[in-house]
Amino acid sequence: MVAIKLHELSKSFQGPVINQLSLTIPDQQITALIGPSGSGKSTLLNMIAGLTTPDSGQISFDNQPIFDAATHWNQPPAQRHLAMVFQDFALWPHMTVQENVAFALEKHLTKPELTAQVNWALEQVSLIDFRHRYPRELSGGQQQRVALARALATQPDLILFDEALSALDPELRTRLQLEIRALIHDQHLTAIFVTHDRPEALQPEYVAVSQAGTQQPTYQGLVQRSTFMGDHFDTYVQVGAYDWHVKTQLPYTTAPITLSIDPHQILTF
Ligand code: ADP
Ligand code: MG
Repeated sequence: MVAIKLHELSKSFQGPVINQLSLTIPDQQITALIGPSGSGKSTLLNMIAGLTTPDSGQISFDNQPIFDAATHWNQPPAQRHLAMVFQDFALWPHMTVQENVAFALEKHLTKPELTAQVNWALEQVSLIDFRHRYPRELSGGQQQRVALARALATQPDLILFDEALSALDPELRTRLQLEIRALIHDQHLTAIFVTHDRPEALQPEYVAVSQAGTQQPTYQGLVQRSTFMGDHFDTYVQVGAYDWHVKTQLPYTTAPITLSIDPHQILTF
């Protein structure tokens, strides 16, 4: 649970990559950042994580400064209560699933505490029965779930997803998106999801069935089915080559539909 504020953040390598970026990222939501390859998405996440030092500007979490170029304040990454999930999973091949998840955890935990925490995280991603396997014995989707469990196990406030689903096939990606969305909400986490792939980014959250006359960008789709999820319906809509999942209050039958996207929730740079 953390709201992030970036104020006039800049970073150059050979040339400018991030230039005076000011941005507020709301807490307990998934915010998607979309940009082509080389546009500075990973650089931005790394600055938020504390792995790359900005040249100028400020970053705050819940109005507490974690980086301030003017005062040379730079909170170490380990104290920022965040986790990152990458496209290539970054699992240790010589460690089992449970060893991979345990690896990131604080060393001061007792053995039973450690086991409980690891098991809890593996249960969140439905991989408890796979805990003794090695990464090579898992599918791509399962490996990405291990990476997600490893992130969750550290009990972060914030998870940064760097093209985390880009390597997965569309069907698996869709399924993991739903799982990630449910986990982020259940755990009251904040998530930033960067991708170069627009449909991937649009799937998580801010798509709604369009009202007539909306000023927002709209997409034409075909409803596949609506599944009751307890307090809402998960309506599958085929939009071009992609299946979107839209949270709706009512079920929809198979028919063409117009979807709109809240542009305030989709940030392009
Ligand atoms: P994206 O994640 O959007 O593909 P990156 O943030 O990885 O983009 O990279 C943005 C630009 O910054 C690229 O031109 C890249 O070459 C450059 N860059 C990123 N990291 C470094 C680094 N550590 N040293 C030098 N140049 C870098
Ligand atoms: Mg990148």
